[in-house]
Amino acid sequence: MTAAVIDGKAIAAELRARVMAAVRGLADGHGIVPGLAVVLVGDNPASEVYIGAKKKMSAETGMRSTDHRLPASTSQAELLALLAKLNGDRNVHGILVQLPLPPQIDPHAVIAAIDPDKDIDGFHPLNVGRIAIGLPALAPCTPQACIVLARSVHPSLTGLEALVIGRSTIVGRPLAQLLIAHSATVTVAHSKTRDLPGVSRRADVVFAATGRPEFVRADWIKPGATVIDVGINRVDAGEGKSKLVGDVDYNAAKEVAGAITPVPGGVGAMTIVCLMHNTLIAACAQNGLPIPML
Ligand code: NAD
Repeated sequence: MTAAVIDGKAIAAELRARVMAAVRGLADGHGIVPGLAVVLVGDNPASEVYIGAKKKMSAETGMRSTDHRLPASTSQAELLALLAKLNGDRNVHGILVQLPLPPQIDPHAVIAAIDPDKDIDGFHPLNVGRIAIGLPALAPCTPQACIVLARSVHPSLTGLEALVIGRSTIVGRPLAQLLIAHSATVTVAHSKTRDLPGVSRRADVVFAATGRPEFVRADWIKPGATVIDVGINRVDAGEGKSKLVGDVDYNAAKEVAGAITPVPGGVGAMTIVCLMHNTLIAACAQNGLPIPML
C-alpha cells in the first residue's frame, strides 16, 4: 500500500483564500483591517526569515502589519513597555513576539505581558488554560495546522486513537488538548515512554513532534494509519549539501500508512496561514463581530 500524500501547500492555499475573502468582507462591511504587530529583538537570521514570511502573508491576505525591531541589548522592561503600547493600540489586533529572545529577557514574562485577546501565537497562560477547559481561545498555530491536516483525511476525529509523540508546550501538549476537544482518544508519548513502537502501532493517527530526524519507523505505523509529521530537521545530504527531513522515516512509512504529510510541504506549509486566521479571529472578537468559521 502506498499512502495518499496530504498536500499541506494546497490545503494552506485554500485556507489562505478563505482568510483573504473574510478580511475583505471585514474591510468592506465594517471598515476594519486586521492589524498584526511583529516584534523582533536582535538579529537572529532564522527569525528574520520567519518574520519575513509572516509579513508577506499578512500583506497577501489584506492585513496590515507593523514592524518593531529592537536591538539585542534591549532590556526586559523596554520590551514590556513596547508590549503595553501595542496592547493599548486599537489598530493592532494581533501581537507576535518572535522567539527566541536574548538571554536577559524572560520569555514567560513577555508572553504573559501580551493581551490574551491579541495573543495570536496562543502561548499566553490564559489561552492555554481556556483550551484546557474547552473554552474558545486563540490556539497555537502548529497544533491547529495538525488538526486541519488530520481532518482533511478524517473529517471527524471522534473516537479515533490519536498518538502525539512529543510533549512540548508549543506543539505536543496543545495538540493533545485540541485532539481531546475533537473527541479523539489521545495518548501523549515522550522521551520516557516505554515501548513507543507498541504504543504507536495502536494509533489511527500518529502526530510526530520530537525534533529527531526520521525517528518514527515504518514498522511503528499501523497499516492504513494517518501520519502527520511536524518535524523540520536540516540534515546532511552529502556533497556539502543539506536537506529538510521530518521526524518520520517518510519513504518507508509511506509504504505502510494510509495517508502521510511530506516534509517540506506538510505541517510547515500550514502554520503561517493559521497565524493569519488567528489574527482575523482576534480582529473580529475585539470588535464584537461573529468569529468566521473557516
Ligand atoms: P521540543 O524539543 O521542544 O520537544 C520534543 C519532544 O519530543 C519532547 O517532549 C520530548 O519528550 C520528545 N522526545 C524526544 N526524544 C524522544 C524519544 N526518543 N521518544 C519519544 N519522545 C521523544 O520540540 P518541539 O518544539 O515540540 O518541535 C518538535 C519538532 O517539530 C521539531 O522538529 C521542530 O522543528 C518541529 N516544529 C515544526 C513546526 C512547524 O511549523 N511545522 C513548528 C514547531 C516545531
